[in-house]
Amino acid sequence: HKLKFYKIKITTLKMKKLLLALFLMTAVFSSVNAQQYRPCDTDEMVRKAKLQDPGYAQRMAQLQQQTLQFIQQQGNQKTSGTILYTIPVVFHVIHNYGSENISKAQIEDAVDILNKSFQKLYADSVLIAPAFQSIIADVQVQFRLAQLDPNGNCTDGITRTVSSQTYDADDGVKALIGWPNENYFNIWVVANIASGAAGYAYFPGISGAIDGVVIRSDYVGSIGTSNGSNYSARSLTHEVGHYLNLPHTWGGTNNPGLPQNCSDDDFVSDTPNTIGVANFSCDLTQVTCGTLDNVQNYMDYASCHYMFTDGQKARMHGALNNGASDRNNLHTPANLIATGTNDGFVGGPCAPQADFGTAIKYICTGSTLTFTDMSWKAAPTSWAWDFPGGSPSTSPDQNPVITYNTPGVYDVTLTVSNAGGSSSVTRSQIIVVSDAVGAQAVPFVENFENTGPIPSGSNWMIENATGNAWGLSTAAAVSGSNSMRLVNHSGNPNGTVDAFVTPGYNFTNIVNAGMTFQLAFAARSSASSDQLKVYASSNCGQNWNIRYTKTGLTLSTAGILSAAFTPSSASQWRLETVNLNSVSYNNKPSVRFKFEYTQNTGNNIYIDDINVTGVSNVGIQDVEFLATVAVFPNPSAGLTNINFSLAESAEMTIEVTDIAGRVVQTIENNKLQAGQHNYTFGESLNS
Ligand code: ZN
Ligand code: CA
Repeated sequence: HKLKFYKIKITTLKMKKLLLALFLMTAVFSSVNAQQYRPCDTDEMVRKAKLQDPGYAQRMAQLQQQTLQFIQQQGNQKTSGTILYTIPVVFHVIHNYGSENISKAQIEDAVDILNKSFQKLYADSVLIAPAFQSIIADVQVQFRLAQLDPNGNCTDGITRTVSSQTYDADDGVKALIGWPNENYFNIWVVANIASGAAGYAYFPGISGAIDGVVIRSDYVGSIGTSNGSNYSARSLTHEVGHYLNLPHTWGGTNNPGLPQNCSDDDFVSDTPNTIGVANFSCDLTQVTCGTLDNVQNYMDYASCHYMFTDGQKARMHGALNNGASDRNNLHTPANLIATGTNDGFVGGPCAPQADFGTAIKYICTGSTLTFTDMSWKAAPTSWAWDFPGGSPSTSPDQNPVITYNTPGVYDVTLTVSNAGGSSSVTRSQIIVVSDAVGAQAVPFVENFENTGPIPSGSNWMIENATGNAWGLSTAAAVSGSNSMRLVNHSGNPNGTVDAFVTPGYNFTNIVNAGMTFQLAFAARSSASSDQLKVYASSNCGQNWNIRYTKTGLTLSTAGILSAAFTPSSASQWRLETVNLNSVSYNNKPSVRFKFEYTQNTGNNIYIDDINVTGVSNVGIQDVEFLATVAVFPNPSAGLTNINFSLAESAEMTIEVTDIAGRVVQTIENNKLQAGQHNYTFGESLNS
């Protein structure tokens, strides 16, 4: 007996497109973002720092008094053209190998912009409102990337530190790396600042451990990840103004545009009293406290900022000459020599620092991988790669292409050299090569009863950067006595990512590919935002597609629990369905799944009974239609007609599926006679 099974694929696909289009329209319109102008967070951070460190307020007050005396003695200096102060700078790039790991060229561009903006070297100063042309300051300060580090060793003034703190940065990044603040101006570059700001600084007098500027990578310079706008490219100039003791032009808050700002002073004699620019506008006729505002000042919030005033210059010079500020040692001849920033110093070349990332790469046997040199500190002139298990097994190329023919888990070593020296890095178990044909036939239920131990390998793979790892557990199970568990209640820091990867499942001659699993998880609190993602790959893990995401309370199967979670009853497990968008995985000889958990105050998580499903397509035959299958109107918001004519009698199933591939209506499931058939449907479908 041979079962005949037909689907009108054209029909179902068209309907899917129709529904998909309607769905996407809503999504697109609701997620339109305005052009982002991220603010500065200096005043808020200073306010918090004063609470933590009462001495800070005292030191600021002392500096304020001495600065006012300094300005009274010196007056506003109209001098220009010579450099009076050189400041050694170090950029600490905190990254996780994303776009925030900005290039040296982008950092050099940022230093160039600082110098041009502080020294009035931009031709666009002609755009400044006539009323302020006479007080545009050449601050006579220059910034130089350090060429000697605190140990007197070669540096290019840039360090690179891998940390997921880059995604949610605050002063915590300064504990990862920082150079003495009396010798270097520290600037930390991050992907995202926790408060949502573009950057923040501290006024002089702050604790040396946190002195400096934190800034988003897309607000560094005008090239690379910067959008190049005046606002973005010179936000660092604004932050350095704070670092040199300048308040916002409207006063000591982060709230421009408020009427009460007219009674708040910035302690600068020639900046007009203002409430500040709200909404990042650029109105050169703006009058807010009775006189024309200097909206183009670097210390306001306009989207057009072009100048410091002579009064601001005097205040910055006050900070650079004051022992209470920690700024007066930076520019001394001795410190310039110690940091390699004195005139005429020629350092280097530094030895390059070998690096090629830490991401685990998955491939099928017989596939090739391109390795990318990410070495930093100095450009290498030669490369020596080692690829145990690869072909070729060594390479002198900068970005070699390597083939792996044998299943296994392999290390990679890179050694880079130039005239300054060499360095080497080995990444262990970073290449995972598995058979191009999965060992497990589908359908298959993985209940973790007969897997034996699950160490990292080309079959099962455990990814664990730090803390606890996924592993087999007998603490709880839906079936039998084993499940996969990740302990998060203790020992797995927030922000860490843990994953396990299944063996390959063989979907050859299988259609309607699907997967379900059993989940048990408790949120730790109502604020928990831990996340489970499930990915699928049809090329042994070389490319992963997200097929399932749940976060926080939505992920929880057992509500909120502050104690360590172990499921105590069947009701604390939930069946989860992973949409495989079956056309992508049907007939694929190996499909691997990755379960990836990101910790954010979550509790223990358990996975069991991974059920990989599908239907054999052996015996399915094409049906002959006498004319085109007609579907009309299409698209449709109401009723839709399907008309077709069969050449012969046939078993026929007509199903409507939603965009997730779920059957929402079965229109026909019967043996049809030859001839014309007409259907109308759509009355009961949800949008
Ligand atoms: Zn600011
Ligand atoms: Ca971990």
